[in-house]
Order: sequence, then structure tokens, then C-alpha cells
Amino acid sequence: MSGAAKPVDSNKPLQALDHWEEFLKERYPEPEPELVGISGGAEEDVQSEKEWKRETTQFRDYRAEARPSVKEFYRLNHANQTLEFVLSKRREFLGLNRRRMGVWEAMEYLNTLVDDSDPDTDLSQIEHNLQTAEAIRAAGHPRWFQLTGLIHDLGKILWVWGEPQWAVVGDTFPVGCAFSDRIVFHEFFAANPDSQVPQYQTPCGVYEPNGGLDQVNLSWGHDEYLYHVTRDYLPEEAQYMIRYHSFYPAHRENAYTHLMNGRDLEMFAWVRRFNPFDLYSKSDQKPDAEKLKPYYMELIAEFFPERIRW
Ligand code: FE
Ligand code: FE
Repeated sequence: MSGAAKPVDSNKPLQALDHWEEFLKERYPEPEPELVGISGGAEEDVQSEKEWKRETTQFRDYRAEARPSVKEFYRLNHANQTLEFVLSKRREFLGLNRRRMGVWEAMEYLNTLVDDSDPDTDLSQIEHNLQTAEAIRAAGHPRWFQLTGLIHDLGKILWVWGEPQWAVVGDTFPVGCAFSDRIVFHEFFAANPDSQVPQYQTPCGVYEPNGGLDQVNLSWGHDEYLYHVTRDYLPEEAQYMIRYHSFYPAHRENAYTHLMNGRDLEMFAWVRRFNPFDLYSKSDQKPDAEKLKPYYMELIAEFFPERIRW
């Protein structure tokens, strides 16, 4: 992809929200090795093949390969996600006083209002959600897991409500403590005002060592918002998947274990189990939304009341 430089709207550097996810796929072209099923036989060969891929993967410079709009997106995200910003967004949104709507309704709401079609894939938000859910279902996972796949990105309605892209999507990370150098485009944190606050730049910052992620404020985005919307209705494993699915510095890079407690470490197995379905279930084959709707309406009704607070 090339072309003349276009003026960048500071709220909307990405042509489509999905371009962030495509960048994730370039950075992590395959699932975590331990998640790949090893089907007997030449186990050692398989392992060394994976090691090799992992090494070559590590040596590729994704930052150089990222499209300019993606870089600009991260520049804004890393410069603007301060502890104060996150706390203000939590106050603004977590009262859940915006509207009452059902889960399928929220999916349609997101779908019709996001002017965000990507000419490369041309998949609607509903179709992406259905693809994720269908892949989980095809793998034989339980119904709550399928439902989690279906709804995990509904927090993106923040974008419909006019929030800047850098406060809706992007890899999440703790604020109020040192920014890990395992966060992609780490150098952009130099422009974050919190980098000048010594109290925020120790490993644990304002948090207790191993005090648990629930006490930690992550950069604001669709994960945390949807966690609050849905947490009363879903099992704990699902809550973790929703809340931390963009926390790549932790679930892919193993950073921030010093903030996690035993429960977090245990539950992150589920976050990691979920990730392949999020990242690799996208294909150009469109799921038939009308045909699948009855199945998923029933699944939604099994866990959620008719309408919930957003
Ligand atoms: Fe997401
Ligand atoms: Fe997703």
C-alpha cells in the first residue's frame, strides 16, 4: 500500500479500525506455539520448526513495516493515554448511563453506524463477530465461550459515540507505572506527560506489587468498557477474555507479571486460549448473518436479559 501522504485527522489516523488488528496479525503471524496442537510423531521436528519461526518472527522489524497511518495511530495512543485521561474516561463511561439495549441490537447499532468499511476485506462488524464465534463453536468450545467470541468487540461502540480511535482500539497497557519496553512503539511514550512523573515510572508505580490487575488502570479502550457492560452476566473466564484481549504486552509478551496476582496468572490461560480466535478466524468468507441469527439470539438470551445498560 502506498500513495501520497494525506492529512491526518488526529482522531482518525486509521482508514479503518481493523487496520490495527491487521497490524497485530503481522506482528503475531501465528498462535502462541504452546497453543498449536502437536499431533504425535516427529514432535521434536515440529518444535524446532516453531523455534525457528519464532526467531525469524522476532527479528522482523514490524515497526519499519507498519503503514504510516498505523504508526501515527500508536503515536497518538502512547502520547495521550495518561492515568488522568483513563480516570476521566472511566468516570465518563462506566456509569453505563448512555442507553439500554440488547446485545444483538448493540451489534446492529455498531454495524450501521461505523463508517469504516475496509476495501480489502469488506467484512462488516457483525460478520467479524460471527466469524469469531463460529470458529470457537467449530472447535467444540462451550456456549459461554462462543458467546464471548460473538460480543468481545462490542465495546467499539465507543467509536460510534465519537471517541478518538486511539481511545477505542490499540494494544492496552497499564498507566500509572512504568511503560514496559515490550509495548510496541515504546519510544512514543517519550511524549506522554506521565513519563515526566517519577512516581509513575517505577515498575509498580501507584500499584501494589502482585496486587492483581483489578486494581490496575489499563489504557482506555473497548475492552475495559465492555467488561463493565457485561461482567454481571458472564463467567469469570469470559470476563478475563473480554477485559484483557488487547493486553498484548501481557498475554503475548509476558510483561507486567509483577502486577498480577495468582488468579490473574491462572485466568490468563483463558485470555491466551481466546486470542487465536480473535486474530486468525478472519477470512474473506462471509458468514450468513440471517441464517446464524436464531442460534445466536438463543445463546444471547441464555446469559443476558433482553436489554442491558451501556
Ligand atoms: Fe477487540
Ligand atoms: Fe476482535
